[in-house]
Amino acid sequence: MKIKKNEPLSKYTTFKMGGIAKKMYFPESIEELMTLADKYNHILNYAIGGGSNLLINDKQCFDEVLCLKDFNKRLEHFGNGTYYIGASVRLQTFIKSINNDGYGGIEYLFSVPGLVGGAVYMNAGRGKKHNKCISDYIQSVDVLIDGKIKTFLKKDCEFSYRTSKFQSLPKCIITGALFKFPAMSKEKTAAEIQARIDLCRRVQDMSAPNYGTVFCESNKYIMTLVQKFHLGYKNGCNFSRKTKNWMLHEENGTFEQAVNLLNKVKRWHKIFHLKCKAEVRIWE
Ligand SMILES: Cc1cc2nc3c(=O)[nH]c(=O)nc-3n(C[C@H](O)[C@H](O)[C@H](O)COP(=O)(O)OP(=O)(O)OC[C@H]3O[C@@H](n4cnc5c(N)ncnc54)[C@H](O)[C@@H]3O)c2cc1C
Repeated sequence: MKIKKNEPLSKYTTFKMGGIAKKMYFPESIEELMTLADKYNHILNYAIGGGSNLLINDKQCFDEVLCLKDFNKRLEHFGNGTYYIGASVRLQTFIKSINNDGYGGIEYLFSVPGLVGGAVYMNAGRGKKHNKCISDYIQSVDVLIDGKIKTFLKKDCEFSYRTSKFQSLPKCIITGALFKFPAMSKEKTAAEIQARIDLCRRVQDMSAPNYGTVFCESNKYIMTLVQKFHLGYKNGCNFSRKTKNWMLHEENGTFEQAVNLLNKVKRWHKIFHLKCKAEVRIWE
């Protein structure tokens, strides 16, 4: 297993921000992951998948961090659209593979730069009004918890908008999941992917590093004001003018700025007794 010392975590997040990992571990199998978890149980609190939904303190030094990108790349089709997908598989690889076999349903996730484990943990999906998420096709999820792999049936995973039971279970790692997809023609899935790419190019601000949507629960009028006034720090962290509810990390951005902005928007919601919940996971 690869172990890197004094590794900058900014390299592993799409927001390009983060302090140092004194030791960063890259397990290459479930067995290696289990051995690590036995040795350093607390390491499971600091696990990075694709790093596309993480805001990490740039002033912090983390003793042990786990990178999940290599430990389970299993991608197996049992027939009839039933697949076992390992947590380290990239969403794009997963989608291309099922489409190739004539199955589909999650092409809208083609634009999501995450891994399957992170997507299941976050229950990644389309915006709220579309009511579509990765858990629509999940049958069960395998999780490393208390030193053993446990299988959770979908009904026990408590999936909801951008949440899953796994977010409330400390020290658990999703190792893979069983999915069942409907048959879909290659023409249809290719068209859906193209439509997704075109939409993202049009609406998503990729002018600077970001972590996708900032709040999974917020008020659209407040978020319109935040966008209109381009709330934030010049050449630092600021809310995008192009995309509502979207934060950019320009060259002089800091964790403190990002957290200040999150707290400011939360306070505005609180004044009007409105709900506001950050989607991004924060390592203080
Ligand atoms: C440009 C862009 C577009 C995006 N578009 C969307 C979108 O359309 N829909 C959407 O839902 N999200 C979107 N996101 C957010 C993000 O990509 C998703 O939440 C994604 O599912 C996170 O996966 P990840 O592997 O990157 O997780 P990470 O960011 O690495 O981790 C997120 C959280 O999951 C935990 N975690 C990761 N892997 C595991 C595992 N195997 N077991 C247990 N815990 C784990 C981490 O510890 C962390 O708490 C977007 C982000 C970006 C940057």
